[in-house]
Amino acid sequence: MNIEIPCPTCREHGRTSMIMIEPELLLHGAHFSCPLCHSSVALAVKSYPLYQQSLEKYTHYQMLTQGLKTEGEHPKLNRR
Ligand SMILES: [Zn+2]
Repeated sequence: MNIEIPCPTCREHGRTSMIMIEPELLLHGAHFSCPLCHSSVALAVKSYPLYQQSLEKYTHYQMLTQGLKTEGEHPKLNRR
């Protein structure tokens, strides 16, 4: 699961460049850099708990969606 964010440094200089990020790797302290200006982004340590929570919710939501697709026209009603 990759996401792209616009590079803030490039945007300041009126350019557009996207930085590819792998959310799971961010949690492990990975840095991702802009292919154009080589600025790197990483997760601030204080954002870790919130980020991890959000990522878990998102993953959970993805699983629910996947489940709905699998169940097709006979979804289970007591879903949690
Ligand atoms: Zn850049």
